[in-house]
Amino acid sequence: MNSLDARTLLIAEIPVLLLVGGLIIVASLLGRRDRTLGWTGAALLLVGMGFLLGVADPLRAWERSVAGFGALLLLAHACIWTGVRAFSGRPARWVWIAAGPLIWCALCLWPGFVSSGVARAVAYGVSTLAYTGASLWALGVGAGGQGGKIRLAVLPFSILLLHGVLTAARMAVAAVTGPEPGLLRLDFPMAVFEGMLFFIGVAFAVLMMVGARAERRYRHAALHDALTDLANRRALFEQGGDLLQAALSRGRSVALLMCDLDRFKRINDDCGHETGDQVLAAFAGVLRRVVRKGDLCVRYGGEEFIVLSPDMDAEGALGLAERIRSQLRQCDCRLCEPLSVSIGIVCAPRGGTELSQLLARADQAMYQAKEAGRDCARLWMEDAGGEASAAVPRNGGGGPGKHPVDA
Ligand code: GH3
Ligand code: MG
Ligand code: MG
Repeated sequence: MNSLDARTLLIAEIPVLLLVGGLIIVASLLGRRDRTLGWTGAALLLVGMGFLLGVADPLRAWERSVAGFGALLLLAHACIWTGVRAFSGRPARWVWIAAGPLIWCALCLWPGFVSSGVARAVAYGVSTLAYTGASLWALGVGAGGQGGKIRLAVLPFSILLLHGVLTAARMAVAAVTGPEPGLLRLDFPMAVFEGMLFFIGVAFAVLMMVGARAERRYRHAALHDALTDLANRRALFEQGGDLLQAALSRGRSVALLMCDLDRFKRINDDCGHETGDQVLAAFAGVLRRVVRKGDLCVRYGGEEFIVLSPDMDAEGALGLAERIRSQLRQCDCRLCEPLSVSIGIVCAPRGGTELSQLLARADQAMYQAKEAGRDCARLWMEDAGGEASAAVPRNGGGGPGKHPVDA
């Protein structure tokens, strides 16, 4: 590295930075104007422009070129930080974006600063460390759930941070023991090379993060219902089977509850489709409140919902059904009548060991609940003739909304 000259390196890096920065901006525009990509592309373009300023010296004055070069590079660091903030939906902080470059330009008004390599390196090092530290913080705080992708993104930041600390330590030693121009000059090509590696590394890491986030969003959309954000039918068949088999292999029972809102069409007809949607969202909220961690709540169809609850027997399932019914009654949906739901319950392994079988039997039990006058729960049980029968309320069935259910 010592034999490399900084000017040649800068010239070689300019097209790389401008090309990669431009491509990332194009990717951002194609990808629904992703702000993180936009800021990162802008950062690379700014570094390329800074390097151009450094080699071409269009201002024809060393002081002004130093001011422009440093200001553009610091602005690029600020853009990286802003891009990382945008990744977690946080806004740009314009004052802090401008602070680094402006302080740098102000320092450059002082001739002693421009002529001192140590002073410039310390000021630049401190500013980049501040932006890099802030970027690392923003990555840690805002971009949770990305697993390995985040660790990958942390790598280029950490390299720069480490290099910054080492450079700062060297500068401090140089300031105490006297300047060592040879040492400082030798290090400049290395810093230029590292600078490019850092920005390209960050760009790659950001692309990975944005890609991982898009994948997560599409996967979420594919497996969730847009109105209630509960799992959808596809998720039930993707995850429900595994959940069921895992519990059965441990010798545990699994309860499946099929809930169908009563006379829901009337709500739509009397109060409007929008109110109907609100009721569906409210019922999803009821399910979220009453289920346990590890239960799977699904919007199975229009106003039909499923709860798949591992490690739950018939007694527990009837209790859960009762909690769902009573929470729904308390729901304040500003309707003329209280809401009610009919629930069919089946428990594996007694009611079957396959998801499709359990669904069919829960459906049978749910229709028995409807026939019994709605607003109640029925448990599927096989009678001596192999036909479905259902558990009835303790007082022998009858009026909706009044009866606890029992096996
Ligand atoms: P029952 O007590 O027998 O279950 O009667 P019901 O009216 O609840 O059942 P039915 O199957 O006749 O009506 C279901 C209605 O749910 C019909 C459909 O318009 C409505 N629906 C389905 N999906 C949605 C939705 O996403 N939003 C709204 N607002 N309504 C929906
Ligand atoms: Mg229905
Ligand atoms: Mg219904």
